[in-house]
Amino acid sequence: MLNQKLFESFTIEGSQPGKHVLILGGIHGDEYEPMAAVRRLRTQISSEKLSGRVTLVPVVNQPAYERINRRGPDDLDLARTFPGSPEGSITQQIAHEVTQLIQAADYLIDLHTGGLYSNLAPFSGYTLHPDPAILEIQRHMARAFNLPVVWGTSAHLDGRSLSAARDHGVPAIYAEWGGGSGCDPKAVKGYATGCLSVLSALGMLDIPVEQKPILYHIEDDREESGHLQLQNHAPVAGFFEPAVQLMDQVQVGDVLGSICSVMGEEKTSVITNQTGVILGLRTLPYVEKDEWLAVILETEQARANNE
Ligand SMILES: [Zn+2]
Repeated sequence: MLNQKLFESFTIEGSQPGKHVLILGGIHGDEYEPMAAVRRLRTQISSEKLSGRVTLVPVVNQPAYERINRRGPDDLDLARTFPGSPEGSITQQIAHEVTQLIQAADYLIDLHTGGLYSNLAPFSGYTLHPDPAILEIQRHMARAFNLPVVWGTSAHLDGRSLSAARDHGVPAIYAEWGGGSGCDPKAVKGYATGCLSVLSALGMLDIPVEQKPILYHIEDDREESGHLQLQNHAPVAGFFEPAVQLMDQVQVGDVLGSICSVMGEEKTSVITNQTGVILGLRTLPYVEKDEWLAVILETEQARANNE
């Protein structure tokens, strides 16, 4: 294993000096739009127009990618393993290596999707960092990413790339878009454009950017906010049929869908206890009990917090 590279990366050196941005795809091995988008950036970022440096890693978690899985062969979720350890299992080693990259960067952009089993509406996110200067840069980057939803959430979640960035004072954002086993060309294009827009907003890339309207910019400082798998779990195992679509508005007590038995005689409704907008939805019909079915951006809760 000595000196063997854990993942492949590519650095673009600008013609002018400046800051260093790290862009990651494939922290989860089954999230394909980020991988394609980061690869595309390699040809889209021109050295002549760049001030500073951009490091691109299309597939951070190659062992997970090669087994078509969110997790690596040690069954660890890389996004729960940061800062990792050089002597640990493969996922812990990768987390450690990425932490070194994050430490060496001035800004981080980490791209995700819903993975094989679910689809996510486009949004960018950041932590409500305790340092107001870093928080302001993160807000600026997340808005510049040019997606319809911007979500600021708890800075207390650990194990993520954003936690490592938080601990090293590196302003960071993540984004979610797509998933469900394909590779949506619209998401790939939007992701690449989003990264270019952030580089432009940071004053590193001399390109024109057309800023699109932001429909929701929510900041939710509850302890577990931003933990996507925490709500709307399957009450039973079975065949899930959603009754809602991404970006639909729902209220407490609304039916998100139903889960039925093989012959369909038994049918259980899935009721939400949240009010907001559907940001993520399971696309794979068979579901185990307690697996997550939907992610809801709580618009009302955040509004109540702000009042
Ligand atoms: Zn992910």
